[in-house]
Amino acid sequence: MPTARDKSAPQRAMERLGLVRDIDLALHLPLRYEDETRLDAIADVRDGETAQVEGEVVDNRVEQRGRRQLIVRIADAGGELVLRFLNFYPSQQKQLALGNRVRVRGEVRGGFLGREMVHPVVKVLNGDLPLPQALTPVYPASAQLPQAYLRKAVASALARAPLEELLPPGQLPPGLPSLREALQFLHHPPPGAPLAAFEDHSHPAWQRLKFDELLAQQLSQLQSRDERAALRAPALQDTALPAQLRAALPFALTAAQERVVAEIGADLARPRPMNRLLQGDVGSGKTVVAALAAAAAIGAGWQCALMAPTEILAEQHFRKLIGWLEPLGLKVAWLSGSRKGKGRKAMLEQVASGDAALVVGTHAVIQDDVVFARLGLAVVDEQHRFGVAQRLALRAKLEEQRLEPHLLMMSATPIPRTLAMTYFADLDVSTIDELPPGRTPVVTKVFADGKRDLVIAKIRDEVAKGRQVYWVCPLVEESEHVDLQNATATHAQLSEALPGVMVGLLHGRMAAAEKAAVMSLFSGGQMQVLVATTVIEVGVDVPNASLMVIEHAERFGLAQLHQLRGRVGRGAVASVCVLLYTAPLSDTGKARLRAMAETTDGFEIARRDLEIRGPGEFMGARQSGDALLRFADLAEDSALLQQARELAALLLRRHPAAARAHVDRWLGGKAEFLKA
Ligand code: ADP
Ligand code: MG
Repeated sequence: MPTARDKSAPQRAMERLGLVRDIDLALHLPLRYEDETRLDAIADVRDGETAQVEGEVVDNRVEQRGRRQLIVRIADAGGELVLRFLNFYPSQQKQLALGNRVRVRGEVRGGFLGREMVHPVVKVLNGDLPLPQALTPVYPASAQLPQAYLRKAVASALARAPLEELLPPGQLPPGLPSLREALQFLHHPPPGAPLAAFEDHSHPAWQRLKFDELLAQQLSQLQSRDERAALRAPALQDTALPAQLRAALPFALTAAQERVVAEIGADLARPRPMNRLLQGDVGSGKTVVAALAAAAAIGAGWQCALMAPTEILAEQHFRKLIGWLEPLGLKVAWLSGSRKGKGRKAMLEQVASGDAALVVGTHAVIQDDVVFARLGLAVVDEQHRFGVAQRLALRAKLEEQRLEPHLLMMSATPIPRTLAMTYFADLDVSTIDELPPGRTPVVTKVFADGKRDLVIAKIRDEVAKGRQVYWVCPLVEESEHVDLQNATATHAQLSEALPGVMVGLLHGRMAAAEKAAVMSLFSGGQMQVLVATTVIEVGVDVPNASLMVIEHAERFGLAQLHQLRGRVGRGAVASVCVLLYTAPLSDTGKARLRAMAETTDGFEIARRDLEIRGPGEFMGARQSGDALLRFADLAEDSALLQQARELAALLLRRHPAAARAHVDRWLGGKAEFLKA
């Protein structure tokens, strides 16, 4: 076995991209193509075009024009072209010796000396150099992974990869080529291939890849559904405790909340583990639904765990749930990564003894040292923030007990329902599609950053009315330092402009205890203005906050802006969201801000987001923490998805070996992850 050290830099770079098996490389598609199959006559080439011409070197000199450069003239039967090299090696000079015949390729532009190519690719012609028969693929490359290396690696992997047809004859949707043909075509398309159909992924070769990918996905989902059907979970049915909780709530549930509570209740009452996604727009009231589910579990004599992606969120949940559940005589434990020592030990003991009915925390809850006496229900908030691997760890851990717990995931990033149901064959979906009554929709205004003073005046008004204000600064990982400075500078500016007002600062670099202190001042109402990086993105609940200012709004994604805006408009007071942008705005930036100003409906936002970002990214890396689909697009390929789903069911019934081979080809070692 070669060790890491024996591997070349390009090999290691390939591995980092997940290009390990031949099939991985074969599935690594070009970004675009270059057409080196044709030659242009020098007289025909035009400014701005990429051209390939052949000619004889008729002049070759090194000149000092501002800087030292090599200037070469080549000629064919009808014209002349200048080649200019600002950096050059003696070997290049030799290549371009007078009288040599060369083939050059590059972008043509009108230069001082006439039409020219700067730094073209040059091949010396010794006798005949046949033109390639196929377009040349251009792969995403880097300094560690040069284009030429990758081309060779892909071409030889493509030749070696076991690409035999795995599907039984007659089962493919009509018109699709074999996988081998499809890949051959996509890596090395013949001259004149319909490149537009490659780009919009409508070409049959693309369709075949999408179909195979969706098939693998469906197979893995169906398999995991079957496996789950064989698992046992405690049947959690209690009506007394949920009824007590309802009676103590200061509000009545909305019809949508009632519906999802019933759906979840029915799942919990069955002796099979629930695997349900609860989706609902920000502010739609998912927490109380989770609390009612927890009450059903606890009333039936089991424990419940509730996990949130950040400490702040977990603590918010904790406070809310303690307020609801402790009056009913239940013990709620709070576990977090930062809680160490005796306090932590005591908590762990309460969890292990079963004393703590509900455990709230960050994913620290799933760390090795947490042992539940009788875990019956696990609730995962803002599921898209959780790595699939983490969810998997949770499940594997719970398998040590004989019974599986029920699993409820909550998300404010809506997936169109029918799509979710088809795609996640192993996931049931409940949707809260209405907001609690009495909310005044948030009014959104878009201002250029020059209007900052106006916005600060508005803050002063709100604070004078006894309201609270969020001011959000962007946090981009690569420039964390700079962003921190922005947040700090804004904090200083606001503190100065608002004498007598308590302005707090919250960012990711602060210690957990510090964050908690700031957050509790703000939610307690003593602090009126909170300047924050996106740590408040999900779930924070301060109903008295009526104004949110988002600085550099153009840097945020649409889903993120929507999440942020959801932090205001939580009470009855009319709320405003101000999006401050710094010009110039890109087209997508404009479209995003316009969408925000025009609608507050999360499903509509998700639809626009899809439209603006274009296909391919929906539910992709950004939302789920890991790219689930590389080729197919759920919104566009619903017909293929349906076909894949039908074939997956058939394969599992009649051709289990083909099903296994297909999943292995496509998902390899990743299959296990996709179940979580
Ligand atoms: P999210 O779905 O974004 O997690 P929350 O659960 O935080 O929303 O609920 C938002 C706010 O609405 C909370 O203050 C919550 O107590 C309140 N709430 C939830 N359900 C109702 C309801 N049926 N009527 C009135 N207020 C409600
Ligand atoms: Mg929430």
